[in-house]
Amino acid sequence: MAKIISGKELSAKLKADMAAQVAEFPEKYGRVPHLVVILVGDNPASVSYVTGKAKASETVGIKNTTIRKPETISEEELLSLIRALNEDDSVDGILVQLPLPKHISESKVIETISKAKDVDGFHPLNVAALWQKEDCVLPCTPKGIIKMLKAAGVGINGKRAVVIGRSNIVGLPVAKLLLDENATVTIAHSRTENLAELTRQAEILVVAIGRPKFVTADMVSEGTVVIDVGVNRDAETGKLCGDVDYAEVEPKASVITPVPGGVGPMTICCLMENTIECFLAKH
Ligand code: NAP
Repeated sequence: MAKIISGKELSAKLKADMAAQVAEFPEKYGRVPHLVVILVGDNPASVSYVTGKAKASETVGIKNTTIRKPETISEEELLSLIRALNEDDSVDGILVQLPLPKHISESKVIETISKAKDVDGFHPLNVAALWQKEDCVLPCTPKGIIKMLKAAGVGINGKRAVVIGRSNIVGLPVAKLLLDENATVTIAHSRTENLAELTRQAEILVVAIGRPKFVTADMVSEGTVVIDVGVNRDAETGKLCGDVDYAEVEPKASVITPVPGGVGPMTICCLMENTIECFLAKH
């Protein structure tokens, strides 16, 4: 039986600690942190993520403004809105919910958000700082994964870690954070040959692919620490599931994260932490 890391429980504890910290801000700094979330269009998954972020803000005591714009908003209109928020001293964090409609360049949007208000940690200057080991806003999902490993008492130092997925928002930064914790890291992707042979060597396996139940029992060794980042719909049941076949893999793993209730809540929790960090950096 694997130890299950509940991101739901861990994030609830961390959010309670943050709420106590934020409660002192009005007296210390005259106000609470302010996070602005921009949602373009009405993609149901995006609406649900934005709602989750607003709820978490409320729990922590962070002011949350969600700005909803129609799918037809022009790129320039969106960039102007971001520029205005960059200039607004009452705003500490800006997040534009991705994905965006095809006519809007995501990279232009990310580059337009001020580095100091980039609570997602996606701005090229924050990415560069991460790879240079300088102070930066860390991307929420990778940051949350390291917190989960530490909270579960998983030693990362010197361990063989395999990350499946090389996206800018999960795979690459989580590999870098594991490297910074002195793991020996291999990054796998869709062109990796003999993937199962590789993943069986992992002591820590992070899976961020976006394919339901992709990682099966034959791909992991006994005692592996398994972090499942994927959020997918199971075609048969219609329920949320991860990239890992949980029922098959859990008995072999020493530690595992569930989906839902694993990495997802920690991502939102780290967004709250990043908003507080951006606020404190200004004060
Ligand atoms: P992404 O940008 O689509 O990247 C997927 C990665 O998986 C790519 O690097 C791709 O390789 C690799 N891949 C795809 N098929 C593969 C295969 N058969 N074998 C090996 N590698 C394969 O996705 P993402 O944004 O990183 O997200 C990954 C998953 O995590 C999604 O389910 C997403 O919803 C979820 N997610 C969850 C959270 C959370 O908070 N829980 C946050 C972010 C993302 P190539 O580079 O070769 O194409």
